[in-house]
Amino acid sequence: MAKPKRAKAVTVVKGGTVFAPKIRKGLLDDGWIIIKGGKITKIGEGDLKKTATGDRPTVVNATGKIVLPGFINCHTHFYSTLARGITLAGYSPRNFKERLESLWWRLDKALTYEDCYWSALVGSVLSLKAGVTTVFDHHSSPGSIDKSLDATAGGMGEAGIRGSTCYEVTDRDGQDRASLGIYENVRFARALKRDRRSRIGSFMGLHASFTLSLPTLFRARDAANDLGLGFHLHVAEDMSDVRDSQKKYRRRVVTRLSEAGILSKKTLAIHCVHVSDSEIMLLRKTGTNVITCPRSNLSNAVGASPVGKMFRHGIRVGFGSDGFGYNILDDAYTGILAWRLAERLPDAGSVETRLMLLRNNPIIASRALDIKLGEVAEGHAGDLVILSYDSPTPLDANNLWAHLLNGELVVDKVLVGGKVVVEDGRSCLVDETRVFEKARRLAADLWRRI
Ligand SMILES: [Zn+2]
Repeated sequence: MAKPKRAKAVTVVKGGTVFAPKIRKGLLDDGWIIIKGGKITKIGEGDLKKTATGDRPTVVNATGKIVLPGFINCHTHFYSTLARGITLAGYSPRNFKERLESLWWRLDKALTYEDCYWSALVGSVLSLKAGVTTVFDHHSSPGSIDKSLDATAGGMGEAGIRGSTCYEVTDRDGQDRASLGIYENVRFARALKRDRRSRIGSFMGLHASFTLSLPTLFRARDAANDLGLGFHLHVAEDMSDVRDSQKKYRRRVVTRLSEAGILSKKTLAIHCVHVSDSEIMLLRKTGTNVITCPRSNLSNAVGASPVGKMFRHGIRVGFGSDGFGYNILDDAYTGILAWRLAERLPDAGSVETRLMLLRNNPIIASRALDIKLGEVAEGHAGDLVILSYDSPTPLDANNLWAHLLNGELVVDKVLVGGKVVVEDGRSCLVDETRVFEKARRLAADLWRRI
């Protein structure tokens, strides 16, 4: 006998100012949203008939609040979560490479499976508390590669976030570990194919051109192509990456990656700080997504990405945080400032950065995860952020971006797939006090091992 179908969970968000760009003036006062089975099925304004919601829906009161689609972060490293505040004796990097060698490549080697799980859990909780409902993680733990993506995805799932993770393949720890990295991506992607309920997706992760030999690049490419995976890798972040590629292969980074078959519409090319005009054309021709991480670039003193030029050439440029905090609005704001400084134009970047965060990031994430994200619209995932904000000036659909960047908005509730995961600014799926206490203990142990 066929099993009776379980009724789909219904959530109703009621009473807020809902930003829905495709509806009339772009916002609904006293709006309501019905989410069924994780997706938005109806939106409207004013009275909501009981018959529209079905029996016993979960009601989320958004009265007096602002309701937006959850934000999306297209590149971060959850494994860096336990490094906040770390101090290392003699740490004084003079350039980007030294920073990698003296901090990040020491830290990632010391990570255990347990660290991977808890750093992803804490990073996901902090992201959700900042209104970010989808995160693309890029993971490295050379001392414990096998099943490390299960640990990372496990932490993300526990917190209730949507996103993807991948293992950054590299030759810097030898051929065996490069092979293990490729295998970990393959193993994880295959396991996900069998789990249709998972909210986590996958990529073939690669570190960066300067730590990848041609044979490794080809093996990773072939494995990814077999599974239909896109690539997620750092590209021309620092001039040292470009110099390495020119010296070893007599071509620049983007050209090398393009010739190796790494660039495509499914690929996330992170940073692209040092790209020539002809490389920008290659990125456009291959449809590669470029993810800029301005806070990271400024902090690492690697330079300012030619975002304006790439954007004007029609490249889909999105935002990532690269592990520098969890609030993606901070990256967008820093992006505007860096853009203006680079172009010496006090009006540059406002419109474009809005499109990058609120249009491009959702397009990139929707394609990668095969679900519509980033809009309050029927058929889209019920991923919402509900914000408290008593605006001192008029707020409408046209000036929302300025309020988001400059206002004192406070995250009140967050929903992922219609499920409330943050309430009153705190996670309602995990005990934050217990989780952070555990993270502090793990971080102290980790720092001692480095
Ligand atoms: Zn990165």
